[in-house]
Order: sequence, then structure tokens, then C-alpha cells
Amino acid sequence: MGGVVDVLTEPAVAWTGTFAVLILACLALYFFGRSRRARLAQEQISARERRLRRQFEAVMSSTRDGVLIVTRTDEIALLSDVAANVLGVDRAAAVGKPLSRLGLRVVDDRLRPILLREAFGIDTDDVKSRIVGVPGRRGADDVRWVQVRARVVQDGLDDGPVTIVTIMDTSGLREAAEAISRSDAQFRKAMENAPIGMALVDLEWRLMEVNRSFAEMMGSTVAALRGVPFSSLSHPQDLHAERDQLTRLYEGLQNRFNLEKRYVRADGNVVWAKLDVGLVRHAGGAPDHYVVQVRDSTDDRMHSEILAHRAMHDPLTGLANRTLMQEVLQELLDQPDPESRVGVLAIDLDGFKGLNDRFGHATGDNALVHVAGILRAAAAGRGTVSRIGGDEFVIVVQDHDCSKAMYDIAGAIHDGLRRPIQIKRHQVALHASVGIAIADAETMDGGAPSLLSAADSAMYRAKSMGKARTEVFEPSMRTASERNTGLAAELAEAIERGDLVLHYQPILELRTRTVVGYEALVRWQHPTRGLLLPGSFLPLIDDRNLSVALGMSLVDQAATFLATGPSQSTWVSLNVSADQLGDSEFADKVLSAIGHYRLSPQRLVVELTEASLVAPNTRIRHELTELRNAGVPILLDDFGTGVSPLSYLRDLPVSGVKLDMSFVAGIPEDPAGARVSRALGALARELGLATIAEGIETEDQAEFLADCGWRYGQGWLFGVAQPAQALREQRPEFMSSLIDPRPTEGETAVEAMRLDRD
Ligand code: C2E
Ligand code: CA
Ligand code: CA
Repeated sequence: MGGVVDVLTEPAVAWTGTFAVLILACLALYFFGRSRRARLAQEQISARERRLRRQFEAVMSSTRDGVLIVTRTDEIALLSDVAANVLGVDRAAAVGKPLSRLGLRVVDDRLRPILLREAFGIDTDDVKSRIVGVPGRRGADDVRWVQVRARVVQDGLDDGPVTIVTIMDTSGLREAAEAISRSDAQFRKAMENAPIGMALVDLEWRLMEVNRSFAEMMGSTVAALRGVPFSSLSHPQDLHAERDQLTRLYEGLQNRFNLEKRYVRADGNVVWAKLDVGLVRHAGGAPDHYVVQVRDSTDDRMHSEILAHRAMHDPLTGLANRTLMQEVLQELLDQPDPESRVGVLAIDLDGFKGLNDRFGHATGDNALVHVAGILRAAAAGRGTVSRIGGDEFVIVVQDHDCSKAMYDIAGAIHDGLRRPIQIKRHQVALHASVGIAIADAETMDGGAPSLLSAADSAMYRAKSMGKARTEVFEPSMRTASERNTGLAAELAEAIERGDLVLHYQPILELRTRTVVGYEALVRWQHPTRGLLLPGSFLPLIDDRNLSVALGMSLVDQAATFLATGPSQSTWVSLNVSADQLGDSEFADKVLSAIGHYRLSPQRLVVELTEASLVAPNTRIRHELTELRNAGVPILLDDFGTGVSPLSYLRDLPVSGVKLDMSFVAGIPEDPAGARVSRALGALARELGLATIAEGIETEDQAEFLADCGWRYGQGWLFGVAQPAQALREQRPEFMSSLIDPRPTEGETAVEAMRLDRD
């Protein structure tokens, strides 16, 4: 307390010098005035006196300090306004009186009375400074605390030395000191209750004081943390994260710094904390201690980690996504000696699309989650399991005996999938084709993409070998799959360019041998490879958008053919796969083409394989019904090969069936083929369906089928599929003789087909 006052009263010493000069001048004037000799004062002197007095008054009134001058004879020679005010006496009455008659009482700091001469240090020669109390009228609490400094000055005049007393009211200082102590308390209180963690840390980075929030964050108590080295709370990996910054702070290169680091709580859990560290210096500038604010940023961190996790994981299954899988694989391959120790399993579900179509996407998603669980269990921590697309998964494996680990995992996958899953009322068994590739000198050259494509090739081999099996990559697989990858990439462009064109194979009425229609079959007019048949490129379209785009282009071609073709009474049947249906896009296109070219709807026929009609989902069924209701006939292709119950034929909007050519091929030598053809023909007629036999290559076959009741037929016997142009260029009279349908009965082939159904 006294220290604070000392510091604050330091300027008073400077003032004292100034006063001394002015006061001596005044004293001189004073004694002049009193002396008889003063009457002889000259004009000059009185002018000077007035000037000095004005200056003196100005100083007296502008200073906070009051002045009292007492002569050796105890007479009050001067009392400034300020001094009179501070001491609470009447100035005019006081001047010229003895000090003892001033009527002033003073007390020491314990409120004991003291003599005025003693209080003002009048009897000593040293410069004295003390604080005395001037009691007021309102009791013990009403004491004004005053700092007095006395100094004896030899004025060199007759009356001898005088004592100059400066008087300063310290109440303001006291208040300041009290305020400081109060704000100190307030600071402590604020710190204690602050919602963020706060710590005062000494220069050795030891906790001097911490608040409750800080202690709670560290899972400890305020008392337990006092005196503890701050670093002992740090996460080992972030132990000295703040060291450089602290040095810079200490050296005055920066004022404060921020930092985010981890701490380990008393319960062992890790918290992320954002630190704000400032250095508090002494008045002289020397570092004293650090003030550290600590905010728990664990939630923020978790949030950003979740975001980062999301960017790297498949939201449906929680497995790694393609990006993360590729990163992991490349990292493993970049380690020394990855050969025979790093491998990839490519896994593709068999028939997953069918499951999706049959039960809907929600069920498909559930199945994928189920499969993800099986893959995780199969990998059993030996690798990174990822989902890289619809039903495609990849497991990246690192193991000192990689090939054994890969076989184990593949085996576990097949085992896991063997247990059927319950979907609605059905037990559905899932299967997967698995391809294995292990890093070797050759696959290493191309890095991660090369190893992945090797596993992919092996997986495709597994699919083509009958699915639900595992194949290991060998270089011969690569060429085939690379060829296909190239083609698949070109397909999109080819569709856009119109390189995929329809060829038309005539369909005849077997009895009359008249052309009643054409089956449109797609071909790829490839710029370098020549004419490609659908078997070599249709299976490569795994993108639904692409197969829909293809369908759109072919509908246009078929409609143009019908509108400009060789006859106005023939029909064209278009092959459609299940994945081209479902959005009503195809139906819309067909109907708008019919409208645009003013075609009879019965002239555009749709062929669907029996397989794609097995348990068609409601949307496909809806689209087919839409077409059928508009008058577009629907034919069931490859009839006899499917497993559909007969009820489908009755319930679905089907107008006719096409006997699969595998039955036709055996006719007439193979008794089974002949029997089945006969039975299926009878069945179709029984159901009122139009009947068309495919793949007729011989006259015997044609006759046999006609005898069995198959009304229409197509095959190489009658003609291969040809481009539209070739058919148009055939001589019209020749064409008309071929296509004139049932001229005797005056009925068109299309009408005949409709009647067949009725
Ligand atoms: P599909 O619908 O069963 O077509 C009949 C296939 O048998 C055609 O093969 C045709 O060229 C061939 N063929 C015709 N007559 C004979 C014959 O007398 N003997 C033999 N052995 N074969 C004959 P292609 O053109 O290679 O078509 C194969 C399959 O591709 C088609 O089978 C059909 O399922 C599909 N396809 C063809 N065009 C399209 C299309 O535009 N869209 C869709 N989605 N699929 C198509
Ligand atoms: Ca067909
Ligand atoms: Ca067929």
C-alpha cells in the first residue's frame, strides 16, 4: 500500500524544486512588504512584484499540492488556497497567525493525535514526508488523508530560515490503490468463473493459478493443478508445440500467440484445446508471467474430422471410398519391397441389378450394407475394405504372406454370402465374383491403377467362368479386359455420333412366305474394327444413362425406317432391355415417334426377353402397360428359356412370343426340341398370343414349325439383318410381292397379329 503511494507521489519531488524558487521570491517580497524599508520600493520593483505574484498565484492554483510556509517564529507566512482547502481552514484568517492557533487537529494512521509541528516536520532539517489524517466533523470514518513534505529553506533574510510544507490530498491515490486491489479481486473472480479455461503460468511454464473451467477441461481440480508443469498435461505428440512461440514472446518478438494442441485429461481421454497465450511484463519491461486462455476445441475438431471422414468414405456402408482406397494402395506400394506383400481383391456382386430391379433400391441398399459387413468380417483387419461403385468393392491387403491372406479373405467372402438374406418374404442368396491381383514387378510399374485393373480383369474372368467364384490375375487376362475398357469408353461417343445403327431382319408369315415385319437388330459401325455385333458391345454398357440414350436413338431410326421404308403395312420390332425401362422415357419416346411420323401404333413392336419380365418392378410394368394401352404390341423374346410361371404370360401386357432359337436348332432331328416347339406353340395359341419362331435356317425347320402352329418365322433361310438402305433399294415390285399380306382375305399382317392376340 505504502509502495503504491510512493510511486504515485514521485512527481511531487519535482514540484518541490519549482516551488522553492518561487517561494523564495515570495518570501523576499513578503519581508520587503513588512519592512519599513519597503516603503522605499521603487516603481520598478513593485511592477516586478506584481508580475511575480501573478505567476506565483497561477502556479499555486494550478497545482494539486498545497503550500504552507511557517517561519522559525512559528508564524504562518503563507497558506495557499489548495492547502487551506485540504486542511479545512480559513486561509485569510490563518495567514500571519502562529501555527498553534490555526485550530487544526491531525492524527497518525492509527488516529492518535499528533502535534502540528511534529506532523509538519518543522523542527527537523531533513526533508520529511509522511501521511497524516485530518479528522472532519462526521466521526471516525471522516478522515482526510494528507501527505505532507517539509523542507527547511534558508532564505538568507533577517527572520531566519522558514519551513516550506507541501500538502497533498491522497484520498484520490488511496481510491486508486483501492480500485487496483478491487480490480485485482474482480479479475480473480472473473477468472474463476470464466466459461473458458484460464491459467496464469510462470516463466518456467508452471501453472500458478488456473480456473475451474480449465481444471474441468483437464479432468482435474484447481487445487491439484497449482504448481504443476503445464507440459505434463500435454499430449506426447504435441509436447513442445508452444516452445518456439514462447521464446519469441519472451524475447519481445511478438505480443501473444495462438495454438491448437491436444492435452490428455486425468481420465486418459484426449481433448483438443485452442490456446491464446500472452506475456505480462513488469513496469520495467521484464517478463513476469503468462496469461493463457484455453478453449476446448474437441467438438470443432471432431466436426472437421467427420467432414474429412465423409469425403473419404461411402455414406451408405461407411467403407472407404475409391479415393481413400487408391491413396491407401499407393501408400503401401510406395513402401519398400511391396512385391508379394501387397495385393488387391476386386469384388463384384452377381445379379445385383436384378435384385435392385425386383425389390427396389431400398432393398438393394440394405443388401449392400449387409455385404459390407461380410467383407469387413472377411478382411478381419487385414486390409482396407472399400466400396468403389454400385455393387463393386475392393479390399487392399498388406500381409507378409499376402497370397494366403487373399485366398483366406476370398474364401470367407464366399462363405459369408452363402447364408441367404431375408428380403420381404423371400430368402435371397447373394453371390460375388472375386478377382485377386498381387503386386509383382509388372503390376508395380503402373502403380495403384495397374494393380487395380489387374484385379478387375481377374474379377471379369471369374464372372465369365460362371460367377460366384475367385480368379487370380494372369497377364493374358489383361489384353481382353483392356480391349473392352477401350470399347466401353468409345461407346458413348459412338452413340452420340450415330455409329450404332439398326439392321433389319425380315419376319415372314410361314404359310404364305410374305414379309410381315422386321426385327431391328443393332450394329456398331466401328471406324476401325468394322461392323460389330451386339454381343461384343452391349454387355459393356453398364451405365443406365447410356443404354437409355441408345434406346432413344434406335427408336428414331426404327420410326424413320417405318415411315420411309419399303412398305406401309409391315411392322418393326425393337429389342428393349429392362434397364432401358422404368422411367417412362422409352414409352414417351416411342409414342412421340409414332405421333411425329403418323404411324399406326401397331407397327412399332417392342421385344423384351423373358428374363427381364420376371417379377418386373411396378415401374417397368407401368411403362409396358402404357405402351400396350397406346396400341404398341409387346413380344416376349427367347420364349421357353425363362423360368417365368405361366401366370406372367396371362397377367402381363404381352401380345406375342418368340420361340427361342435353341429349340429351333434341333428341328427336326432332335426329338426334344421338336416336342418343346410343338408344346410351346400350342400353349401360346391357347393364350391367344401371336407366335413367331426365330433362327430358321432350313426349309425343314420352317415347314415343321408351320405345322406345329407357329404362324410367323425369321432366320437366315429368309434373310439376314440388312441396313435400311439395302432394303429400300430392293425393287419395289419384288418387295410388294413379298410383303403383300393375305391379299385374299384383305387383312394386313399387323391386323393379323392383333387378331392373333384376340
Ligand atoms: P435376339 O433378340 O434373340 O436376336 C436374334 C439374334 O439371332 C440376332 O443376333 C440375329 O442376328 C441372330 N439370328 C437371326 N437369324 C438367325 C439364324 O437363322 N441363325 C442364327 N444362328 N442366328 C440368327 P444379334 O443381332 O447378334 O443380336 C443378339 C442379341 O442382341 C439379340 O438377340 C438381342 O437380345 C440383342 N439385341 C440386338 N439388338 C438390340 C437392340 O437394339 N437393343 C437391345 N436392347 N438388344 C438388342
Ligand atoms: Ca429379339
Ligand atoms: Ca431371341
